[in-house]
Amino acid sequence: MPTLRRHLQALKPYPIPVKPDGGQGDFLRLDANENFYPLDDSVLTAAEQACHHSQGYPDDFSAPLRQAISGVHKLDPERIACARGAMELISLLCTLYLEPGSNAVVSQYSYLYFRTAIAYSGANIVIAPERDLVVDIDALASVVDSNTCIVFLANPSNPCGTLVSNSEISELRRALADDILLVVDEAYAEYVDKDVLGPNFSLADGGNTVILRTFSKIYGLAGYRIGWGYFPEKMATELRIVQQPNCVSHVSQATALAAMNNQERVTLLGQENRRIREAFAAALGDIGLLVIPSHTNFLLVKFASVEAATSVEQCLRSKGILVRPMHAYQLPDYLRITIGTESQMQRVTEGVAGCLKDV
Ligand SMILES: *Cc1c(COP(=O)(O)O)cnc(C)c1O
Repeated sequence: MPTLRRHLQALKPYPIPVKPDGGQGDFLRLDANENFYPLDDSVLTAAEQACHHSQGYPDDFSAPLRQAISGVHKLDPERIACARGAMELISLLCTLYLEPGSNAVVSQYSYLYFRTAIAYSGANIVIAPERDLVVDIDALASVVDSNTCIVFLANPSNPCGTLVSNSEISELRRALADDILLVVDEAYAEYVDKDVLGPNFSLADGGNTVILRTFSKIYGLAGYRIGWGYFPEKMATELRIVQQPNCVSHVSQATALAAMNNQERVTLLGQENRRIREAFAAALGDIGLLVIPSHTNFLLVKFASVEAATSVEQCLRSKGILVRPMHAYQLPDYLRITIGTESQMQRVTEGVAGCLKDV
């Protein structure tokens, strides 16, 4: 039998929640921060047309899509890179910039995939404590040492939904040595009120910071597996050393392009999400639960005990509602619940209230 490389032997597959119905049934899926609002006709038409033109390999570097992103976000298209999701970019950045045995820094409750990707590369995961479920910039800076290659930060954070300001991130950048890569994962940025968090792409102009975005969340294209990042020029070139050619399918590129060109929908969905999320948070507060203020399409909800959280999760599941347990994040007395439609969230509120009676 072949022997697994030594640094991989202690690793387990990434803990994606198992879909009880194989994803096909009637479950209300509020466990993966997906967005199930129906896609626009323009997006579906683009997807269908692309199906008819997929016999050849796709555009190698997603040039038309990068142009569209550059138009919307006023960025240099040469410094935009697309991939099969932000996850792939996270993984490629580890492949490119982490020496085995070096350190990569993450925040205490940060996105778990950062740790997975770091571990693939044989580097050490160094964890900085948070303050009240918010990333602590000073703590991040203080665990950095001469062996540190990358600092990862999701803003807003998953699973907490909390935010640090762009000026705090700039402060962190200034505290880091020039040769340390800072990765700012903005998977949920489109959900944040524009007055609260403006664009932070200019940070990539410094030569050592990458901003990541995805089509999996507000754009509702998680199944297409496509994301992008804004890179320093040299890094965008270096990425092509390790990125597979033709890796983003033609259908994904064309569909994402149509979605990118409909920014009104993004704005609308952001507003709708905020309204429903705040009403849902208030409703959960009314039944005595502590909710972490969120800037995303999900809420982290605290229960009285680990048993209460576990039994509510299972009870909701028996009612056909999936939410995410937080054991893997060391927050076992919490559940993370994705925001769906108004009526779906009413159903969840009633479900949680009913389940709590039986705890
Ligand atoms: C959902 C999520 C992603 C999405 O990754 P894709 O590979 O683009 O689907 C990235 N980062 C964070 C923090 C997320 O929550």
